[in-house]
Amino acid sequence: MFDSHCHFDPDGDVAGQIARAREAGLAGLLAVGGDAKADEGARLAAALAPGFALPAYGLDRDAADSIEGREELDAAMAALEERLAAEGAVALGEIGLDYSHGEGPADRARQRALFAAQLRLAAKLALPCSIHSRDAEADTVELLRENLSPELAAAGRAGSLHCFVGSAEFAAALAPLGLCFGLSGIVSFRSADALRAVVPLLPRDRILVETDSPYLAPVPMRGRPCEPAFVVHTARRVAELLGLPEAEASALFAENARRLFAPA
Ligand SMILES: [Zn+2]
Repeated sequence: MFDSHCHFDPDGDVAGQIARAREAGLAGLLAVGGDAKADEGARLAAALAPGFALPAYGLDRDAADSIEGREELDAAMAALEERLAAEGAVALGEIGLDYSHGEGPADRARQRALFAAQLRLAAKLALPCSIHSRDAEADTVELLRENLSPELAAAGRAGSLHCFVGSAEFAAALAPLGLCFGLSGIVSFRSADALRAVVPLLPRDRILVETDSPYLAPVPMRGRPCEPAFVVHTARRVAELLGLPEAEASALFAENARRLFAPA
């Protein structure tokens, strides 16, 4: 299988986490940036395990606070474009919208502007995105519709909605836009019956598994700092929900991730 969304602490045991991920049978992982620390972790992982740890860089919603006006946004996009090329990024991430802290209209508008600009950059570079969306489903769908590359969307390679916990309606809006669904350890949480009911409805060739490490350790690893090797527990749970043998499901998740982030 493949951990389609994880973060590394550059001051942590990155080499050990990668070694354990390989031992656990992972075929690869997407090392996701989004802020200075996560970017550095992704860069370090990619340097330690080229071809296995694939890097993604981007500006997450918190960066929206420090970007003022059109000129600053254009400058940030130019710098990001340069970095994506220089670092051999396979995706933009993580990017997206988060309205879960009671953001007002001005904050929301800044987040939307930053997200839209990065979606346009991804379309220009023909790169998929690793997308965060929390309490912002309608705006997420609208901006994806307006800004995604039609070619990538048609190929089912527009990106992944990471840590997908949405409704069947949200999934039905995302699938035609070429989005994949990143299922995290949340599928194993006791409170996640609604999500578990949606999983069998997702198109199988769009299902990914992820840890979002260091967050969201799956059952039975709850309470521990999460790391990519733990994605095996999430994959097992999703396989059960799909009624697939574990090995077949793991191969499917790896193939879906390869198609998205490392097409031949
Ligand atoms: Zn993340």
